[in-house]
Amino acid sequence: MENPIMDGKALAAQLRQEIKARCESLHFQPGLAVVWVGDHPASEIYIRHKQKACEQVGMLSVLHHLPADSAQDEVLALIEGLNQDPQIHGILVQMPLPEHLDEAQVIEAIDPAKDVDGLHPMNSGYLFSGAARLVPCTPLGVMALLKAHGVEPAGKQAVVIGRSQLVGKPVGMLLLNEHASVSFLHSRTPDLARYTRDADIVVVAVGRPNTLTADMIKPGAVVIDVGINRLEGRKITGDVDFYGVSQKASLITPVPGGVGPMTIAMLLQNTLNAALVSP
Ligand code: NAP
Repeated sequence: MENPIMDGKALAAQLRQEIKARCESLHFQPGLAVVWVGDHPASEIYIRHKQKACEQVGMLSVLHHLPADSAQDEVLALIEGLNQDPQIHGILVQMPLPEHLDEAQVIEAIDPAKDVDGLHPMNSGYLFSGAARLVPCTPLGVMALLKAHGVEPAGKQAVVIGRSQLVGKPVGMLLLNEHASVSFLHSRTPDLARYTRDADIVVVAVGRPNTLTADMIKPGAVVIDVGINRLEGRKITGDVDFYGVSQKASLITPVPGGVGPMTIAMLLQNTLNAALVSP
């Protein structure tokens, strides 16, 4: 059998080179602002990765770190300032926000043209209508991996496990827009295997190890593992039983080194795209 591993790290490195070359050809510097409220421990690492990636491709990267007890109005005022700032083309609010803040209102305050996380209802609407503009980065990364490996969704049966705004729903919508027949599974789905066994493409975005095991897929299926789970000793694993499933799948993403690096590459891509259409 050919090597089934989809190397997201290598593909992301290649895309970052392309984005760097594009940035160098511009007469201005694309800029990303990250808004971080509070001190959620996992956020710091993610933010550091995003900032480093921006700098490596020659983008401006600005971090606004607000205290955990910031008022809703302070966060909204900061976002409004960034909406008006001509040096900033992309705005990303690092989730989760502290509990007292209204997440939906914060997302809706972002100028949809600068919403590089693709979470604004207007951008969800464009995706839903089949005329996507800014789309969440992880789903874009999943689609880029499929494309790079010659997986054509049209006419295929696709199953997405997970239905979050950030991953599950948009990835399913992108697959549907590419003419796959899509099933969404979630925590109330009584028998996941009933659906996954017939699927040509399975995307797992749950946050629970071993959600998908070899007995749940058909031979030759393409499996994308979005999950990130931290085991004891800080080892990271995905949602898929990688060893078992890789014996049966035609293609599979590893964790780490699969979807994760692609998410950051797509953030750069979204920021570049937002900059290119800015007035
Ligand atoms: P989320 O908002 O917590 O959503 C998890 C989804 O999984 C929900 O729709 C939930 O169903 C479903 N679910 C939970 N238990 C289930 C079960 N036993 N069977 C079937 N479905 C179940 O998480 P998320 O933000 O989508 O992220 C999912 C995973 O991807 C996490 O591990 C996260 O860390 C990872 N992630 C990775 C990247 C990356 O760059 N690689 C980016 C984003 C997220 P209900 O809707 O019914 O509750």
